[in-house]
Amino acid sequence: APVHNGPAAQKRPAISFEFFPPKTEEMERNLWDTITRLTPLAPNFVSVTYGAGGSTRERTHSTIARILSETELRPAAHLTCVGAARGEIDEIVSRYHDIGVRHIVALRGDPPGGIGTAYSTHPDGYRSSADLVAGIKRQYGDIEVSVSAYPEKHPESRDIDADIDVLKAKVDAGAARAITQVFFDNDLYLRYLDRVRARGIFIPIVPGIMPMHNFRQARAFVTKAGTTVPSWLAEKFEGLDDDPETRKLVAATVAAGQVQKLAKRGVDTFHFYTMNRADLVFTVCHLLGIRPDAAQKAA
Ligand code: FAD
Repeated sequence: APVHNGPAAQKRPAISFEFFPPKTEEMERNLWDTITRLTPLAPNFVSVTYGAGGSTRERTHSTIARILSETELRPAAHLTCVGAARGEIDEIVSRYHDIGVRHIVALRGDPPGGIGTAYSTHPDGYRSSADLVAGIKRQYGDIEVSVSAYPEKHPESRDIDADIDVLKAKVDAGAARAITQVFFDNDLYLRYLDRVRARGIFIPIVPGIMPMHNFRQARAFVTKAGTTVPSWLAEKFEGLDDDPETRKLVAATVAAGQVQKLAKRGVDTFHFYTMNRADLVFTVCHLLGIRPDAAQKAA
């Protein structure tokens, strides 16, 4: 019998990819090049985000519809309840169900004024992400619902326990999986995971990994969302603002190091924030031992 020790015997990690709906035809072509390159890696699902305040409602839908009709991928549609009545949200959900979507990433969404401003619910809207999860599950029991999780707590949260209470409410409402906000310090995630498990939450808490194509831009963006960018990480990108080639190699090294360390700690599922680009994510997956699926390649 084979001896199951050593890297070759390690189970292939499960992966998923996140895209955003393209704004222009050029961005659309670029997204499809990316999808074509990443599809042979056989992700469990690919998700498409929903613009702040529902601003990409139609584009998210058409991207999901195209993925369904042109690929074998299983798409997950992000949906938020900000600024919309229940009826509108339910209508979006049933349109997705009609075309065969069976996975929704259910979120509250940021306040219309942006992160840091006060959030208020629509008078006829879902009151919270947990309320939205329950609404989707009531409407269609066969839709799988994923939700967010915040290893460094959400910027609006009082503390990490209050944050985990919100996660618990989402799980009780029927969430099957949580995907984390991007983080760079693995210890924060592992500590968070311990607290979540101690709270009696046993759904997968999938780490959200963001290879950084442009460190400065990415840092500004993630910091706003409450993610810590450690100084050791910033140092790795020092002096590379005008050197995209080296930056790319560093970004691949950093992200590969992060996922390999997590894999060593037993993490077997990863969600990649692709920013609609294939190269870094493909490289990192390769270094995780993921190879184009033979059957997919032949097809
Ligand atoms: P929740 O998990 O519902 O709540 C986050 C925090 O808000 C709570 O921990 C708590 O502090 C506070 N809070 C919420 N409800 C209550 C309550 N009832 N009582 C007390 N405190 C409460 N945004 C988009 O616009 N489109 C997207 O496609 C999108 N995709 C995302 C995907 C992932 C994986 C993640 C992590 C985030 C995504 N976001 C997206 C961002 C998200 O919408 C924002 O972070 C938003 O501010 C919170 O929504 P949520 O569902 O994550 O919040």
